[in-house]
Amino acid sequence: MLIALFSSEPENGMSTTPDLKSLTKILVSVAYPELQKNDIITSWGQISSYGQVRWSADDNTIQIRVNKDIGTWHQAGIIGLLSHELSHPSQKGSGLKEHKTDEDVISRGLGLYLAVERLIAGKYEDHIIQRGKDRYLGYRSVRNLLTPIEIKSLDLLMSNLKLKPARTSHRNSFSHDSIVYEKDGISTIAIDGVTFVIPQGLIDPDIKIVHRDGIVSVYADEKIIGQYEEFEY
Ligand SMILES: [Zn+2]
Repeated sequence: MLIALFSSEPENGMSTTPDLKSLTKILVSVAYPELQKNDIITSWGQISSYGQVRWSADDNTIQIRVNKDIGTWHQAGIIGLLSHELSHPSQKGSGLKEHKTDEDVISRGLGLYLAVERLIAGKYEDHIIQRGKDRYLGYRSVRNLLTPIEIKSLDLLMSNLKLKPARTSHRNSFSHDSIVYEKDGISTIAIDGVTFVIPQGLIDPDIKIVHRDGIVSVYADEKIIGQYEEFEY
């Protein structure tokens, strides 16, 4: 199993924050050969989604930020999230669709980590976005797309982690990740399948997503750049 490549639990039993740089390096070497040429920068940050990926078609850079609040997640879940973020810029086409991105992760043999990530993130069922035009696959759908060997590995990993697949009573509307894509000097941001153009002049802005009274407001460097209705699913 691939997890053997990643360091196991620390010997002293204390949990440590996973090293994003090393995990990403291993992921690129085993599953994302086309990203070897890219300059990938990873960091923990205070962001309003689990992950954020920003890449530029102009200069081969990829930045991945992971919410520091999930530093306590088991490493398998962090690997699942990093895989999803790496799969955004790896796809042909725009890479802005979440469902396609999840399928890309699974096609690279990393689906079991994605399944663990979805379970920890409270997504047993699919998280439908963009009024049904796109979705994040939930644990159940990811598992259904795995090969028999991958399912065995997943079940073994889950029992090692003492994780039990269970439907969550409340749906989690927290935005899963945000994507910033730069091309020809124009930055586009996609959140929950909704895209906005970032006003010119804002370079690598701090993105904030605020859910209030059924409305999601997106800010770039404190300036509001768009709003949309929270989709009840
Ligand atoms: Zn995504």
